[in-house]
Amino acid sequence: MTNVLDYVHPLQGTASVFHYSNGNTLPLVSLPFGMASWSPQTTVSDGSWYFHPDHRHFYGLRLTQQPSPWINDHGHFMLTPQTDRLMLSPMAATSSFRRNDMLIKPDYFRIVLRRDGTKLEMTPTMRGAQVRLTFQPGAKESRLVLHMFEGESSISIDAEHRVVTGYTRANHAGAPDNFATYFVMKFDSELDVEGSGTFDAKYEASKELAATGEQYGAYVGLKVPQSGVVGVRIGMSFISVEQAKLNLERELGERSFEEVRAETAEAWSQRLGSIEIETADVRKRDTFYSCLYRACLFPKTAYEIDAQGNNVYYSAHSGGTVQPGVMYANIGFWDIYRTSLPLYTLLWPSLMNEMLQAWVNVYRDSGWMPKWISPGERSMMPGTLIDVVFADAYVKGIRDFDVKLAYEGLLKHATVPTDQEGLGRRGLREYEKLGYIPGDRYHETVSNTLDYYYGDFCISQLAAEVGTEEEVRKLRERAVNYKKLFDSVTGFMRPRNEDGSFMEPFDEFEWGGAYCEGGPWQCSWSVQHDLLGLAEASGGRAVLKKKLDKLFATPPQFRIGSYWCEIHEMSEMAAVDFGQFAISNQPSFHTPYIYTALGYPTETQYWVRKTMEELFSFEPDGFPGDEDNGSMSAWYLFSAMGLYPLTPGVPEYVTGSPLFTKVKLHIEGGKTFEIEAEGADTDCIYAHDKTLNGEAHAPLFLTHEQVAAGGKLTFTMSDKPVATVTDEALLPYSMSKSLK
Ligand code: CA
Repeated sequence: MTNVLDYVHPLQGTASVFHYSNGNTLPLVSLPFGMASWSPQTTVSDGSWYFHPDHRHFYGLRLTQQPSPWINDHGHFMLTPQTDRLMLSPMAATSSFRRNDMLIKPDYFRIVLRRDGTKLEMTPTMRGAQVRLTFQPGAKESRLVLHMFEGESSISIDAEHRVVTGYTRANHAGAPDNFATYFVMKFDSELDVEGSGTFDAKYEASKELAATGEQYGAYVGLKVPQSGVVGVRIGMSFISVEQAKLNLERELGERSFEEVRAETAEAWSQRLGSIEIETADVRKRDTFYSCLYRACLFPKTAYEIDAQGNNVYYSAHSGGTVQPGVMYANIGFWDIYRTSLPLYTLLWPSLMNEMLQAWVNVYRDSGWMPKWISPGERSMMPGTLIDVVFADAYVKGIRDFDVKLAYEGLLKHATVPTDQEGLGRRGLREYEKLGYIPGDRYHETVSNTLDYYYGDFCISQLAAEVGTEEEVRKLRERAVNYKKLFDSVTGFMRPRNEDGSFMEPFDEFEWGGAYCEGGPWQCSWSVQHDLLGLAEASGGRAVLKKKLDKLFATPPQFRIGSYWCEIHEMSEMAAVDFGQFAISNQPSFHTPYIYTALGYPTETQYWVRKTMEELFSFEPDGFPGDEDNGSMSAWYLFSAMGLYPLTPGVPEYVTGSPLFTKVKLHIEGGKTFEIEAEGADTDCIYAHDKTLNGEAHAPLFLTHEQVAAGGKLTFTMSDKPVATVTDEALLPYSMSKSLK
């Protein structure tokens, strides 16, 4: 029987380095949205690029929270089995392996070390793992080494009970000083006290079985039974060692390795099985399911269940207290509002609802809505795009969270200025007064201001239901102020000075300054809520369409501008011939879909199909840039299905170029939505006539209601371009259209 897990290739996107990202992903072995994720470590470095598929040395199995190398890890540690001579520095403890010695699946990890033939297997639980070590017959002095990273750690070996407990405060930013990952490890063989001890940050070994201080690790001697097999059950917690024990007992108990693995595999099958596809192309099938796996890794579950059965979490947003409720962390809303969260909203509304409650909890704990959580507020990237997250889920019917408190939190950062670093909206006073953030006073003002406009539109979507008319009016007035940054002469969004003049000099190829991780060509399009209004400001839909044509036709040149070096997003755009369309980074995700919003579906379908075919695969170099916690994967998933959430915050999906002859969405609650596109797997890339449940469907979009209700969408595919659509009623939502 085929198993959908076999279609997943966790090495997808892992062949990345500082200067060039093919995804900047890790081959995570974890439950879907698991709190404990595990990755092999293949470098000695304490840095964040610690795995590469070309490396041939295994340093250890690492418990990791790292959402991106740009954010780095916290609460991490590493396990390394070892025999014979005690070697504690990771550089000396490492062993080589052959490519096929290592097997990485979502539910299972295995490696055989060339040095002494020791096998390490692992299957994860939500907050831990079961590890199985198999030592070669006759191996002497077998042990497991626990490597800690920079930061205080504490470790205690209780040989009598075969238990090791401790914590690590390894961390990079974003957490109070009392942050720790607590752990408990239970061995099913006797420990060898003579062969056990602790070691310090300089790898000086001691016979002491307990130690606390800077980066203390441990080596745990094992009395290996005749079978050669030693099992280790691991529980982790952000709350306490006691809670880690509780997590271990609940999630592992006395279950066998195979039982635990079967439960983990079943959890994956359920998520991956939510979308069924039909295709003869096994490479595209595997790319699709590898992307679906990637879309189910972040945000990570960050709450636990106490002895009384209540949800509790370590709150990095309230000075490190333990709070009641749920939490999801290791995620940035600038990245994920676009694609992965709309995917959960469509497929798994109850999961999305729980995430929304978690982020309301952040507001309850800290007084501010989150921007980038890892594990506390990291405040990266422009805007307050959690605005879009709440609006999108709400307008699509997810309302079983504290809506009132959520709205209060969103309205707060939209209307209450603060000078607290990293919280609220930077430049809000000027934004309210001038209608934009002045470029001569602040950094990245075009990107920030555009994200505020879209954010305000999204908050107004909630205000229309739970706010006042006055709030709706004010927010919608602000949402069309993007016209203040639009320069009709150059056709770009440009920064304005406080006195109202455009900043000079202007260079359409220069990155940075007023633009975040892009330049005018990439960052002028973040007006998802009013693309017809942008067309009007440009001189009409045909004029804006020509501008997009020019974007795709202009060579991928760039100037470094205010950046200190050529940033990897520049290099990735320059590496392919897609013009100034930088699919390598989020601001460009929706660019090809703008054509459809203007009535030109052919161009969308051509560019989206070309991007999927040429720039995505399941291979280690399978992404055109940073994958970013499911966001780029979910771009592929939606695009491959032929439906795309162009304007999250509005309950619609624009139609594109489906990649498969058949897709079935099994929506939580029991409905099935089918997408049929006979010939889609040939060179018939253009989607012509559509029928919805057997009736002709002329609009270039479907409503969320139409999809969520279940049914069948049929595309007639052809290799001939699609006719231009001039009837505005058939175009997706734009604020300007709704005002007419
Ligand atoms: Ca990015």
